[in-house]
Amino acid sequence: MLTGKRILLVISGGIAAFKALDLIRRLRAEGCTVRCVLTASATEFVTPLSVAALSAQPVYQDLFSLKDESEMGHIQLSREADLVVVAPATANLIAKMAAGIADDLASTTLLATDKPILIAPAMNVRMWHHAATQRNIDTLRHDGVRIVGPARGALADGESGAGRLVEPADLVVAIAAALAEIGGAPLPLAGLRALVTSGPTHEPIDPVRYIANRSSGKQGHAIAASLARRGAETILVSGPTELSDPPGVTVRAVTSARDMLHACEAALPVDIAVCAAAVADWRVDTAAGSKMKKSGAPPSLTLVENPDILATLSRHATQRPALVVGFAAETDDVAQNAADKRRRKGCDLIVANSVAGGATFGAADNTVSLIDANGQEDWLRLSKEQVAETLTARIAAHLGRTP
Ligand code: C5P
Repeated sequence: MLTGKRILLVISGGIAAFKALDLIRRLRAEGCTVRCVLTASATEFVTPLSVAALSAQPVYQDLFSLKDESEMGHIQLSREADLVVVAPATANLIAKMAAGIADDLASTTLLATDKPILIAPAMNVRMWHHAATQRNIDTLRHDGVRIVGPARGALADGESGAGRLVEPADLVVAIAAALAEIGGAPLPLAGLRALVTSGPTHEPIDPVRYIANRSSGKQGHAIAASLARRGAETILVSGPTELSDPPGVTVRAVTSARDMLHACEAALPVDIAVCAAAVADWRVDTAAGSKMKKSGAPPSLTLVENPDILATLSRHATQRPALVVGFAAETDDVAQNAADKRRRKGCDLIVANSVAGGATFGAADNTVSLIDANGQEDWLRLSKEQVAETLTARIAAHLGRTP
């Protein structure tokens, strides 16, 4: 989807500017040409040399430099792109954009461009929530600027909240979605509804303790992002994770398996269901209402089985999704166990991965096989985003849509 696209990346001066380097690398890996403009303060965080080396293009910094202007005038720079991306977009640059100020190369280029703009704000949480920034964001949105993030979480200055730059992998998804929308190409999953479960579940023992597992949610979140990017109206039911919400996806945050089941049932009807969550198999029969004391003998916990969300959706009497996909994390006899699981649970496709040695949990990549009624297809080791992309393409094909 990104092959051959030309991105003009404006990097402004926030601590998150270092992530722009990873973004350049990822965009180039997807086949984009990336040309970069740095503000003066961005050069305090990343060097023009590293940006030039990673983009394999000259880097533009100065409106009044004879060299920059003779190589490529700012008007030409602003027009020779399919999409202008500002990442990170500081409060200052956002304010300049909203006011139409053009006092350096970055802001002048942004004012001169006739191309769509996508910005990824990143700043301190208070700066983000400041009335002035929110006013400026509303203005930009009204002007047709696309905005992705900011994400929530720990910030570089020790505070936490909304203000983090969206992770480069998610920025790539947002850029692809923006380009697809601009291109007006019919998206393969347009008109379909998708439900994805992701992350672990937490099963309370008492108000402070819980049973959980090591799932990070990366794979499920990547699948939700990929389905949304291909046009499906996507609902992500997520257990507790550290991840930011994927762009273009409606997220329902849940804690326990039973919450997850209720949120999934509330999302029906859907055409596609992908159960990537690592749902806890058991919960404590009756969680204590107050913190259990350490004094005396250790408590014995009675466990009861949790509902199986995948099996429930696959065998739904009235609202079974047209395509149900499950996951099977196995330590041995991966393919055989996964094929058995597909039949037992009643889903159409199952993605099998080996978790022997714990290599998959929280990792960036995954080695999986896809099993359907006809057999098994082994995929090479791929990033979790690539697994998501490949799976989405298979889902589209199963539904008779051209990926
Ligand atoms: O049985 P097992 O947990 O290995 O099955 C894994 C698959 O079943 C995954 O797709 C997981 O999301 C789903 N699952 C579920 N509800 C459960 C247990 C597993 O949806 N309670």
